[in-house]
Amino acid sequence: MANGKKKINKRFFSVFKALGIYLLIAIASLIFFYQISGPSSSSNEVPISKIVGDIKDNKVEKISVEGDKIIAHIKDSDQKFVSRKESGESFYKILEVSGIDPKTVTIDVKDISLQQAWLGILGAVLPIVLMIGFFFLIFRQAREAGQGIFSFAQSRARLFSKDQPQVKFKDVAGVEEAKRELQEVVEFLKTPEKFRSLGARIPKGVLLVGPAGTGKTLISRAVAGEAGVPFYSIAGSEFMEMLVGVGAARVRDMFAQAKKSAPAIIFIDEIESIGRQRGMGFSGGHDEREQTLNQILVEMDGFTPNDHVIVIGATNRPDLLDAALVRPGRFDRRVVLGMPDLEERKSIIQLHMTGKPFTKDVSIEKLARRTVGFSGADLANMLNEAAILAAREGKTAIDPKDLEEAATKEKLGPQRKRMQSEYDRKLAAYHEAGHAIVGHFLPAVDPVHRISIVSRGMSGGHTLFPPTEDRSNESKSRLVQQIAAALGGQAAEELIFKDISTGAASDIQIATNIARQMVMQYGMSDIGPINLQAKSMFGAWKGVEEGEEMSPELHNSVDKELRKIMGEAFKQAQNLLKKHKIKLDKVAKELLVKETLESDEFEKIVGKKVSAT
Ligand code: ADP
Ligand code: MG
Ligand code: ZN
Repeated sequence: MANGKKKINKRFFSVFKALGIYLLIAIASLIFFYQISGPSSSSNEVPISKIVGDIKDNKVEKISVEGDKIIAHIKDSDQKFVSRKESGESFYKILEVSGIDPKTVTIDVKDISLQQAWLGILGAVLPIVLMIGFFFLIFRQAREAGQGIFSFAQSRARLFSKDQPQVKFKDVAGVEEAKRELQEVVEFLKTPEKFRSLGARIPKGVLLVGPAGTGKTLISRAVAGEAGVPFYSIAGSEFMEMLVGVGAARVRDMFAQAKKSAPAIIFIDEIESIGRQRGMGFSGGHDEREQTLNQILVEMDGFTPNDHVIVIGATNRPDLLDAALVRPGRFDRRVVLGMPDLEERKSIIQLHMTGKPFTKDVSIEKLARRTVGFSGADLANMLNEAAILAAREGKTAIDPKDLEEAATKEKLGPQRKRMQSEYDRKLAAYHEAGHAIVGHFLPAVDPVHRISIVSRGMSGGHTLFPPTEDRSNESKSRLVQQIAAALGGQAAEELIFKDISTGAASDIQIATNIARQMVMQYGMSDIGPINLQAKSMFGAWKGVEEGEEMSPELHNSVDKELRKIMGEAFKQAQNLLKKHKIKLDKVAKELLVKETLESDEFEKIVGKKVSAT
């Protein structure tokens, strides 16, 4: 629903903006009000009897009357007393009642009736104006929203026409297999007759499956680019806006348009948001989804061999897709785009390096090794960010430091300079040094790449152990050691400060997740090889139907195993830190001075890593 939400947000935002303006007006008029009601605040306010007394004692030089305000100027001094009379009552009358002849004092009556009249008008009119303004605004918003609703039926599919700058396969790096599979689609779109004359069955729908940022959108556009056909694209979430029935109408409209300009490609992003398995409806929009999905199926079934329209759907959650969607004759081709491996990262990096100047010591190989777990989009962002960093510092070429900073920023967010007490800094230094030392002395943990006590995003510091290779498997010993390294921060806090802070919350979460997977998914505990996987939000629905609840006994043993793994890992971390306390101190001290230690600086203190492999 990303798009719909955005729009609503924008609407709310503009209401707030307008409200803000009214608020400003209100505040301004308040200030105005205080100004014309005179400089009273600076003098001291007294009961009127005091002023009358002073007049009697002949201490008063002059009385100023401004509306209901009585100001007594005291003789031979700058002192002033201020008092208020009841409105409508005359000050002369007060004097007379008190037995003072008004002629004995100088009375200066300032006429503020005009000011007061204005104030009165303002006071009466302003709320009304504000109210009218407010309602006007609300109505306008509502009307705009209404128009939005009624223009819905027309597809908002964007058309990337043929004359637009074309993305080609050469602009998509790595993913050779996917390109090969999609080449067929390109051929068909280019020369449909060739296929038809041989009676070949043409694919109607291709499902692109892969995590975010792996180039699903990019490669779909490249297919259109290679074939030179128009590209209609829409995101599944865009269908889900507001009115039931609109999504289906849009689908109809988009398919009609695409058929008119066939051969063409229809790209449906986030298709899982429409094609989610039926009967698993959560919140509203359930019927809407079903209708939209049905319409897509109807349209795809209605394709004649002459339509020459191919639908590409993209998703990162294929497990959620409705079976009807992946049946033969619909999205029956599946092309997987995985996270790029080392070689693929190299070529993606190379591709996005073109056109940017780099210093000679930048190594693509090193960069690719450093960026295990980065998607194509992460890599593209990283290189762009590095260019921005270099430009900001007035450099003429991007150097390895910019790249390192950009890579860290891509994963952890930007640096945040914030005020830290000396104690906090010391705590952070020992915490990070704890992770690093524990990780360093555990053979299966990857070498420390960088330690820093500069805060980023939510974290107060970080210690990076990026994988040095692409692994498709994790061993039990590595997982246990990773848990220990994750708990090393807290273990160090406890060892040094005899107390622990809240800073370890996310470490604990990471460690617990690993431990839970070990017990429930990988059969790496005394419970043995049983899948006890906590059911996902969606799976749970099925699970209940199939009576797959975990028994209370099993629940207990899972808890016990979890606690055992975590407890042992924490103990291991503590022991390592005690054993290497001197090195821990040194690393923490160095961190307090330099804030960030690169791997070589760290190794100078602790020695070279002895790895398991
Ligand atoms: P997805 O749709 O899978 O989330 P995108 O296609 O939107 O990913 O990718 C976002 C950006 O990341 C692309 O515009 C491109 O700059 C970059 N990118 C991703 N994968 C690749 C790749 N294989 N080769 C080159 N650039 C890539
Ligand atoms: Mg995308
Ligand atoms: Zn930590």
